[in-house]
Amino acid sequence: MERLDRYLAFDPETGVVRCEGGVSLADILRSFLPRGWFLPVTPGTKFCTVGACVACDVHGKNHHHDGSFGNFARQITLLLPSGETVCCSREQNADLFFATVGGMGLTGVILEVELQLRRVETAYIVVDYVRTGNLEETLQTFHEKDAHYPYSVAWLDCVASGRGFGKGVLMFGRHAAPDRLPIKSRHNPFTVTPKRTKSVPFDLPDFVLNPVSLRAFNSVYYRFHPSREGVVTDYDTYFYPLDSILQWNRAYGKRGFVQWQCVLPYENGVQNLVRILETAQKHRTYPFLSVLKRMGEPSGGLLSFPMPGYTLALDFPVRDGLFEVLDQLDRIVIEAGGRLYLAKDARMSAETFHATYPQLPRWQAIKAQVDPKGLLQSDLARRLRMMEVLK
Ligand SMILES: Cc1cc2nc3c(=O)[nH]c(=O)nc-3n(C[C@H](O)[C@H](O)[C@H](O)COP(=O)(O)OP(=O)(O)OC[C@H]3O[C@@H](n4cnc5c(N)ncnc54)[C@H](O)[C@@H]3O)c2cc1C
Repeated sequence: MERLDRYLAFDPETGVVRCEGGVSLADILRSFLPRGWFLPVTPGTKFCTVGACVACDVHGKNHHHDGSFGNFARQITLLLPSGETVCCSREQNADLFFATVGGMGLTGVILEVELQLRRVETAYIVVDYVRTGNLEETLQTFHEKDAHYPYSVAWLDCVASGRGFGKGVLMFGRHAAPDRLPIKSRHNPFTVTPKRTKSVPFDLPDFVLNPVSLRAFNSVYYRFHPSREGVVTDYDTYFYPLDSILQWNRAYGKRGFVQWQCVLPYENGVQNLVRILETAQKHRTYPFLSVLKRMGEPSGGLLSFPMPGYTLALDFPVRDGLFEVLDQLDRIVIEAGGRLYLAKDARMSAETFHATYPQLPRWQAIKAQVDPKGLLQSDLARRLRMMEVLK
């Protein structure tokens, strides 16, 4: 969709931009951050399109505060499989709107989006880091501090066991006011020195990521991130750490990696988090990266992922036996009343999907109306049998 890359309108008073679905988040930052407007919600990469962000109803580090991308999409123009073009929003064709936000592109092609941007005074974030000694402390810190910051995220050391089980580094952030910047940056508060991109030149051999190296990586990361307050960092470093390393996925070797991301309701959330982390550890299935966030209210998208609870994202190098362990983790998520994120999924079963997305029948009814012949499909939709009723 990247050729649909034009801006159609922008109101500098309100920060509402209307653009085609293939405009990327990087484009928006390049065009509007110098004018004092930032993305209302951003995932951990800026190399994705506005249309995809609606289709996946992506979330960022501010979900507990602002919800997901769909909350800021004021209107969507959709090309239906019939060839007809329709506008939808919360007020107009609302059923179609809520089937499209998080609908993984299966209701139609998102041609245009009217998006509310966020006013900021600088391109910088003030970050408070809190290093914790175990899972209880990690969650306690989240509970205490979360409400005071628009952005929060925790990196977890998922290799640590015993007394250090679930220890991590929490990063709380807010947009910086100009007087927080170093004096030399105050004249150009929206200018960020471009980063030198690095690249992983080839697939690393599989043996590089093993339990010993993963343990070493986690303990080095933990050691180098002590608790500190008021660290001023540019938005690129805070939101998009992986974007400066091109082809970073090669670090996982030829077999690649999967990211397994679940959300677990707050009720019994701690016990369920412990079950998941312990199950992975019991099978010596260690993630390279583990990220925990807290989620707030859902957007209303029928197939949207977010719900109030903890969301845990684990990046596993693909190894023999991994998928069997992930099936066990899925079962914990089903029992907990949670779900897995479609945008990250490469392997869940149709049964798991149908058991965890309770609004699927409503979504299917709208899909059947706009696409009665099932012209719009995807590998994901076929694997998860999204258009079928499971017996
Ligand atoms: C490093 C990294 C970090 C990430 N962090 C996060 C995160 O913090 N939070 C989060 O929510 N996600 C995160 N993601 C996932 C990412 O935000 C989504 O997968 C995003 O949708 C990818 O955008 P894309 O442009 O590559 O879309 P694609 O992968 O091309 O498409 C994604 C889906 O959107 C549909 N789609 C795309 N364009 C349109 C259109 N114009 N009309 C209709 N449907 C369309 C496609 O059919 C597909 O189903 C991350 C991904 C990476 C690589």
